[in-house]
Amino acid sequence: MSADPNGIDVWEAFLDPQTDYSLPDFSAITPETLLTAVHKATDFARAEVAAVIADDAESTFFSTTVRFESASVPMTRIASVAAAIESNHLRPELTDAIGEVWEHLSATQTEILLNVDLFHRIEQVSVSDLNPEDKRQHELTIDLFVRAGARLGEDEREQMATIAAELTTLENSFSRALQLDTRELAVHLSEADALAGMNDDQIAAAANRAAERGVDGYLLPLNNFTQQGVLESLSTAQTRRHVLNNSMARGSRGGDGDTRTQVADTTALRALKAHLLGYPSYSSFAIDNQTAGNPDAAADIVSSLINPANAQLDAELAQVRQRYELETVAAEDVKYYLAKYRADEFGIDPDEVAKYFEFDTVLTEGVFRAATGLYGITFAPYEGVTAWHEDVRAYEVTDVTERPLGLVFIDPYSRDTKRGGAWMDQLVPASRLTGLLPVVTLSLNLAKPGPGRPTLLNPTELTTFFHEFGHVLHGLFANSTYPSTAGTAVPRDYVEFPSQLNEMWRFHPQVLPHFAKHVETGEPMPAELVDALIASEKFGQGFDTIEYLAAAMLDLSWHSLEAGEHITEVLSFESEVLAAAGFSPLVPPRYRSTYFGHIFASGYAAGYYSYLYSEVIAAWVSEWFEDQGGLNREAGDAFREAILAPGYSVDPMAAIERFFGTRPDVAPLLRRRGLAEPVTETDNEDDEASAESESGAASTRWDHPNHRAVAADLTAAGIDPRIEIFDGSTPTAAAAAEALGIEVGAIANSLIFSSGGQPVLIMASGAHRVDTAHVADLIGVDSLDRASKELVREATGQVIGGVAPCGHPGPIPTYVDVSLKDYPVLWAGAGTPNSMVPLTYEQLLTVTGGKEITVVAEES
Ligand SMILES: [Zn+2]
Repeated sequence: MSADPNGIDVWEAFLDPQTDYSLPDFSAITPETLLTAVHKATDFARAEVAAVIADDAESTFFSTTVRFESASVPMTRIASVAAAIESNHLRPELTDAIGEVWEHLSATQTEILLNVDLFHRIEQVSVSDLNPEDKRQHELTIDLFVRAGARLGEDEREQMATIAAELTTLENSFSRALQLDTRELAVHLSEADALAGMNDDQIAAAANRAAERGVDGYLLPLNNFTQQGVLESLSTAQTRRHVLNNSMARGSRGGDGDTRTQVADTTALRALKAHLLGYPSYSSFAIDNQTAGNPDAAADIVSSLINPANAQLDAELAQVRQRYELETVAAEDVKYYLAKYRADEFGIDPDEVAKYFEFDTVLTEGVFRAATGLYGITFAPYEGVTAWHEDVRAYEVTDVTERPLGLVFIDPYSRDTKRGGAWMDQLVPASRLTGLLPVVTLSLNLAKPGPGRPTLLNPTELTTFFHEFGHVLHGLFANSTYPSTAGTAVPRDYVEFPSQLNEMWRFHPQVLPHFAKHVETGEPMPAELVDALIASEKFGQGFDTIEYLAAAMLDLSWHSLEAGEHITEVLSFESEVLAAAGFSPLVPPRYRSTYFGHIFASGYAAGYYSYLYSEVIAAWVSEWFEDQGGLNREAGDAFREAILAPGYSVDPMAAIERFFGTRPDVAPLLRRRGLAEPVTETDNEDDEASAESESGAASTRWDHPNHRAVAADLTAAGIDPRIEIFDGSTPTAAAAAEALGIEVGAIANSLIFSSGGQPVLIMASGAHRVDTAHVADLIGVDSLDRASKELVREATGQVIGGVAPCGHPGPIPTYVDVSLKDYPVLWAGAGTPNSMVPLTYEQLLTVTGGKEITVVAEES
């Protein structure tokens, strides 16, 4: 009989008796209570392990596997409490104690997982009569031991333990060196002139940071990424260069802040560890139990996006160069001009937009409301509980059954004792084994406003909020027997899927109007501003995607080394990898090797690709929700039960396949990021037939390659592609005008003519017949004839009746009928006979690069 993990007095020191939830009293946590608790937890685990081994009876699932799971519960609970304090409010007096907690927990964990006697007892369990969840639990437990080295010989097990300890030391020294160099490389500027472009608040903050360090002038501290936020504001190129150079120099200047040795030694040791466990590389080991399954699958998704993202980046840079009349753009200028373009072209001022996103309204009328709409759960403030800081809010969640579902802590503000970024954690994982309801935490780093001032979110913070709440839902809906598979305890390359999926509701027409109200006037956000915001979010995706892909590729390459390889020329290795994969030096990776904390200090080794991998699923499922009509309770309930609730108690991708009947493909991700799809060989005739069967006039899903090609060109020209697909075909202008209920003159016909066998495209108003003699004269060619079907197909990839102004395989000389200027909105073909796209005259000129002409000699 195993001891009750809830019953031991591990909690005595700080269990809060005031709540129905199994929560510590955070105010009672001191170094002493924390260390007492962790020792009780590890003693409990060791005693239970000894009891399992000493048991003479035959090994059963309950006497070994489940008892091992129970034995770990107090350790896991202490770890969650320590993590919550460490990340949210690390008071200096607790720092050493928390460090001790981690050391003690990880040493105990290694000791237990390398205990072969325990492992043999677990291995002897017969699984033939187990239900699927128990059987899986048993397999996962075996896997946990095997991956720690439990099947190796004695010498190798010793080697594994040594490697584990050495890797921990290297990770700590990487962190310390990086912290030191990041601090030293903060950009110090004596003259205010150098800060031109920054706003008054930013300048005051920079002056404060300088004063804090006792230096004159201004100090711009560096954040984690290569690209620093301040690069978007600084209008002096020299300062931008200074900032980017300092940022990219981190960890590679020699001295105590240099991390190159740690990078070289860590990657070599990881390769050795993988080798001992029988894997060709660390990435094979690390990805083996992930959704992707192997490094090739991870590398494939990264590689497949390089070309479309590079094309998008080129288009973005071309637009920037054109608008600001720049010959070239240097690496330090890219971020600046992309931000400037967003502001100038879309009229998006993040400070103004933020006035529509007030924190409390976003929380109750956006984040909560979307969850209520989809899953029927409700939220109410939960009184009488104090978390780690007075700013933390607690909400109790009530299920559709009207029973309590769990508790959420929301910690919005940044503080000195909080780490950067935003995250969710399971403070108490729900499980039937412990009988505990879930308690989950959501942490943001918003600037705390002065007294009486509202907390406003910029568009990025809004996205982050919805994102983290997606994780919260995953934790709340947890419905598994064992805590080690509860809620978000899924593979890293899957866990970001529910969170990225939840981002879809932030701009959704069923959600946004409820919360996007001006903080001073209460006015709803104007439709034009919503459109501009959505369009502006797509601009710059080429850049963001490329810098992410470069970092992901770098991570996979460092972890593809074989045992015995020891790369000491860290920066040369890096530049070779990036150049070989086709990345331009204009966009350095989001992290360079020497400051890539994710993979050298915080558990993302061979896992940085995960965000993208999860996003493929998220983008695909978000289109499914759109197809279900958005906030659809039935769809939400079914999704909750099949996908969110099981956590890792089922194989996640198998659950996806069962529920949706198929596996995700990458196309929705490309649409989500506004990237063009890689061209594939398709038979157009068949595709047209299937496109025609699509119904609904305002579908935003383009299954036809021609629609995607048109959408890609429009997106590259900075135009939101709103292709509409009709039930019947609309090959003539009159038919199209009738279908749309507009004047025939507003139809922009895409007409292909032949000039001595060469195609010429004329965009003519539906009110006109093109006078070919007149136009030939005007554009200086001998003749213009109606093009053959073959020429139309060859030049446009489209068929007569479905020709679009863009989306062609190559450029076609184009002329645009000036009389189209009279209509505020034009409708042009979108690549198939049953589709059209609305454009302004200016947009038509932009996307075609066409010359304005008259198509008839004289207006009559
Ligand atoms: Zn996340």
